[in-house]
Amino acid sequence: MSSDTNIGVVKNIAASVANAEPAHSTRQFDQGTVAISTVSTHRYPVARIGVIGGGQLGRMMVTRAQKLGCQPVVLDPTPNSPAGQVSGHQIVGDYHDPSRLRELVESCDVTTFDIEDIDTTILLELAAEGHIIHPAPQVLATVQDKLLQKRCLDDYGVPTAEFRAVDQADAQVFAQFGYPLVQKARRGGYDGRGVVIMRDDSDFALRLESPSLIERFVPAEKELAVLVARAVDGDTRCYPAVEMLFHEGVNALDMLLAPARIDTSVAHAAQAMAIKAVDALGGVGIFGVELFLRADGSLLVNEVAPRTHNSGHHTIEANVTDQFEQHLRAVLGLPLGDTTQVLPAVMMNLLGAPGRSGRPIIRGLQQALSIPGVSVHIYGKGRCMPHRKMGHVTVVDEDLNKAKAKAERVRELLSVSGEQPI
Ligand code: ADP
Repeated sequence: MSSDTNIGVVKNIAASVANAEPAHSTRQFDQGTVAISTVSTHRYPVARIGVIGGGQLGRMMVTRAQKLGCQPVVLDPTPNSPAGQVSGHQIVGDYHDPSRLRELVESCDVTTFDIEDIDTTILLELAAEGHIIHPAPQVLATVQDKLLQKRCLDDYGVPTAEFRAVDQADAQVFAQFGYPLVQKARRGGYDGRGVVIMRDDSDFALRLESPSLIERFVPAEKELAVLVARAVDGDTRCYPAVEMLFHEGVNALDMLLAPARIDTSVAHAAQAMAIKAVDALGGVGIFGVELFLRADGSLLVNEVAPRTHNSGHHTIEANVTDQFEQHLRAVLGLPLGDTTQVLPAVMMNLLGAPGRSGRPIIRGLQQALSIPGVSVHIYGKGRCMPHRKMGHVTVVDEDLNKAKAKAERVRELLSVSGEQPI
């Protein structure tokens, strides 16, 4: 970490977020008439923000932290990580290394994260010592274990697919539960890894051997996502529901349509359910809630991510307050921003092309950017690998269908691939 990161703690921010027990109420401000009785004062930098995880989410968060006059410090095992490049202050260390986590948290006013695979034992210890970590490590510990997460949602009355815990995959237990089903590893899965869809008992061969849960297969008409922001004072704001389309086989988000093409009543129901899911977990910050919409119009929560989310990238160009700034406002105890979507948007991940790896080669940037409404984000990863998230593209247009058509054109024009064949 460079020397200028040793700047003193900004007590006023620490004080404003110290008693940050999440409230479970939802409060709406009349957006035009917020009464200001006292004027807040912050000494620059407004706060030192620790960001555990230096990937693309951290990178976008870092730029917003700087916009708000904060000084971000990143913890990531890869030197010069995407977020570390932008912040200029990176501690090189593992998310499971207690000493590096302590170094980060102790040198920052508020710590947050852009990934879920973090050692929560040390985070819980640091929180108990009075350090401010949002969302709370208890929330992270619950979410990290898919079974605990499902139980938490279920106990709170949030509709989810029927499930059962399994310590070891057992053909009889699976058959009794009934196919089609989905087996999910309790820990360590992301972007579809650790998730196996079994159509019938012949798919039992694909089973995961780790402790897991099995879940009823949901024949979803659409997969939706709703971002929910929760502030220190319990103020809660939702973004409009979006629709996620996935890559066949790879299980990574292919295209996101915002807003989702659904009835207003379904959109409102999705928002209400997402708020309930976040209430079940508690905590402060942005949460990405993934939902299934069934043919009969009913909704189920699939899972909750206690962090900024791939389904919210379009908010940078399309919404009044983007998800990264909103998250920072929440964890810093600042007022939440307006979540209104100003323009329809389509977002696509730029995944590394198959069959090649190495230094990224970006093709078609000139052509893609010549289309009005197209924004390209490249994450600064030094090495491209097949299916690795190397960047994303957002297209805004007055008309969602036109935005989608433009995005499809961009998909033909723009690619990122490694320099070498594999
Ligand atoms: P991850 O945490 O890896 O993203 P998810 O639980 O979101 O795992 O599952 C990945 C994908 O698998 C989902 O986006 C969805 O397409 C599919 N999936 C997960 N659970 C179910 C289910 N119960 N029924 C049908 N499809 C499912």
